[in-house]
Amino acid sequence: MFEWGVSIMPTPDQDWRNTTLGTRVRVALWLRDEVRVGNAFSKADLRAAIAGAEQVDRRMRDLRPAGWVIRTNLDKPSLWPEQLYLEKIGAPVWERTYRGAGLRQISAKTRRDVYARDQHMCRRCGVGAAEAYPDEPGSTARLTLGHVNPHAEGNTSHAEDLITECARCNELVRNLTGVQMDSAQVWERVKVLPSRQKQELLEWMTADVRPLRPVERAWGMYRQLPAALRDQMASDLRSLLES
Ligand SMILES: [Zn+2]
Repeated sequence: MFEWGVSIMPTPDQDWRNTTLGTRVRVALWLRDEVRVGNAFSKADLRAAIAGAEQVDRRMRDLRPAGWVIRTNLDKPSLWPEQLYLEKIGAPVWERTYRGAGLRQISAKTRRDVYARDQHMCRRCGVGAAEAYPDEPGSTARLTLGHVNPHAEGNTSHAEDLITECARCNELVRNLTGVQMDSAQVWERVKVLPSRQKQELLEWMTADVRPLRPVERAWGMYRQLPAALRDQMASDLRSLLES
């Protein structure tokens, strides 16, 4: 028996196996043709399919701002921690006119403005540019930009949708799978705070941002000064306090 057309080979420009296509396009085509809407897959499946490409997970996440809905077990508790679920296909990024759909192109000016507005500090954990993380002595925090709500649809590259984040928080916030922090562990810390600080923490939680106090704003600005001017300012402040 001869079987006709059991599997129709896609044209090369719509074949996820075509290594000359961009990684984001290949991931999109693989999801469309192999996973198909309404099915679960794992990161391991994705990495195995698009083997050898750089940053496959990140390219998959880059589909979200193009309207693709990919759920994790955080949004869909029926999934296993390593599983993802293709709920909706968004912009057809394999088509030339949609190649750049949802890709954020943040202008140099916006980037500068957001950093300045946020006083060159990570708005999620408070670390400043080039400072060490309190729990990681000797580390050096690197600042980057993230979205206020990275998992929302329709994020823009305008300043009001952007927030200064350190690379560590950015990765935590953007990461689709895996809960990095143990809730019981966090609660242990929260429980022992004095009640005033509990109250303060609740305010930050409600606002979903830690507002910068004037002293922190001043610190952030001070940190942007060259070393010689910082030394000068420290000595000026010392004299001011001693006078
Ligand atoms: Zn941070």
